[in-house]
Amino acid sequence: VVFVGLAGSGKGTQAKLVAKETGLAHISTGDLLRGATGELKEQVDEVINSGRLIPNDLMLHILNERIQKPDCRAGIILDGFPRNLEQAKLLDHQMQISKVVEISVSDDEVMKRMLGRVTCKECGAGYNLHTAPKPADSKKCDECGGELVRRKDDNPEAIRKRIATYHEDTEPILKHYGDKVVKVNGKRDINDIKKDILKVLKSD
Ligand code: AMP
Repeated sequence: VVFVGLAGSGKGTQAKLVAKETGLAHISTGDLLRGATGELKEQVDEVINSGRLIPNDLMLHILNERIQKPDCRAGIILDGFPRNLEQAKLLDHQMQISKVVEISVSDDEVMKRMLGRVTCKECGAGYNLHTAPKPADSKKCDECGGELVRRKDDNPEAIRKRIATYHEDTEPILKHYGDKVVKVNGKRDINDIKKDILKVLKSD
């Protein structure tokens, strides 16, 4: 299953929740890149922080390593991949895509959300200082007490670039997937969105 949506649409949050309920493995290519170390980290950090996409061959190489792991045998939720038509075509040779969930939110809304987005440095839990889920203390994680930090690419310039990249490069993949695409309104309660996605996935 592929989850598609603007950065800040709630795609990552929903992918995590739905993976937990369905037993599918959750693969976020953004998380894979942020977890890179050594030489690879140096290579990808500058690109990520500017809001551009990293080269397709490098991205595919990293993804291929991840999908070899045993947790992927039951099926996968891809969160953040494919990001352009070439990646979508390459993916077609590797696996069968059953559904594409498009989480739809306006550019203005994602801009607002991303400027408020913080993540726990320790456990990775996500919060928003302007919208839900708000942490009780703006500096501390409700779950584990860890420090809440902003992603380096959540600054106005990089956000604008990511929105433009989404419309130019990522949106065309929706046409490629045709009637596999199911559009879900992402400007609602997190639980209602999750319920809708689960319904869509069970309808097979
Ligand atoms: P995300 O966490 O999905 O918002 O991804 C953060 C950043 O990682 C993106 O802005 C890109 O620079 C990079 N990235 C994530 N997924 C991909 C991909 N499939 N292809 C190229 N770059 C990616």
